[in-house]
Amino acid sequence: MTAAILDGAATARAIKDEVKAEVAALSARGVRPGLGVLLVGDDPASAVYVRSKTRACEELGIHHETATLPASASTVEVVARVDDYNRRKDIHGILVQLPLPPGVDTERVLRLVDPAKDVDGFHPENVGLLVQKRPRYVACTPAGIMELLRRQGISVAGKRAAVVGRSDIVGKPMALLLMHADATVTVCHSKTRDLASVTREADVLVAAIGRAGLVRGEHVKPGAVVVDVGMNRVEDAALARELAGEERFEQYARKGYVLVGDVHAPSVREVASALTPVPGGVGPLTIALLMKNTVKAARAFSS
Ligand code: NAP
Repeated sequence: MTAAILDGAATARAIKDEVKAEVAALSARGVRPGLGVLLVGDDPASAVYVRSKTRACEELGIHHETATLPASASTVEVVARVDDYNRRKDIHGILVQLPLPPGVDTERVLRLVDPAKDVDGFHPENVGLLVQKRPRYVACTPAGIMELLRRQGISVAGKRAAVVGRSDIVGKPMALLLMHADATVTVCHSKTRDLASVTREADVLVAAIGRAGLVRGEHVKPGAVVVDVGMNRVEDAALARELAGEERFEQYARKGYVLVGDVHAPSVREVASALTPVPGGVGPLTIALLMKNTVKAARAFSS
């Protein structure tokens, strides 16, 4: 079997087209959706993620601004910026780019974001609403994956699903969303014994681990749908060839690194019925859902 490619980039474009139309309609009523971004420190990956998100805002006509603070910033200074965004009427959504530097109390900062502007869905109130199946703002990556499955006509109801990873931002909300969509869900993590025996039971397998190519063909039930959340930069030539496959190796030759997921695509492709690519799978969906949540926040503000 050769897995169909689940084109996250195309689905993200479709979502963004819908969001763009809503932005235009809201703006015509005098409410231009606004996103306030907070970037603390000089992590190059965070800067790249923020740029992709603000570029999407520009594409869709969403107002955006980014407050930057140095890595030496204190929790109090970060909270003051959050507070400013909380008060502003022209800012409907707030994005605190993670990770925050080690000296900043991340839990406190996220708790002080106004839950009505928490478009990342990380505030305890929004997490609680999701647990109760009354979602308001849901973390963008798992929400994007559910949109992808829905729009590709993949129903999870009654099926076995496995989520590898139990982080607050991906694994846990993913498991809740799958459960609310009537899948029977198993959550795996670093202490799971004999991971492959668990994941091989799954009709839908989501890998959100942060370990390049950990999920291999032998982890996958024949015909399963596999979603690869991982985004890992591999700089070692032999590993890049092994994980990315021969056809993507020329990218390594050009750039000196290759981006691969948590799924070993060359072996999983032979077993799964469908697989999200890396890049071009889950990443663009995450940004599209952030845009969607921001417009939802602006709509709630205007009604
Ligand atoms: P994280 O907070 O580091 O969590 C990783 C999870 O994987 C943990 O629950 C950990 O288990 C589990 N794990 C680690 N090693 C394992 C192993 N050998 N077997 C089974 N489980 C294992 O990571 P995250 O923030 O959820 O992100 C996961 C990946 O997704 C990363 O590659 C990240 O870059 C990517 N990501 C992509 C997007 C996107 O938009 N494309 C968005 C978010 C994240 P324990 O809990 O036991 O430690």
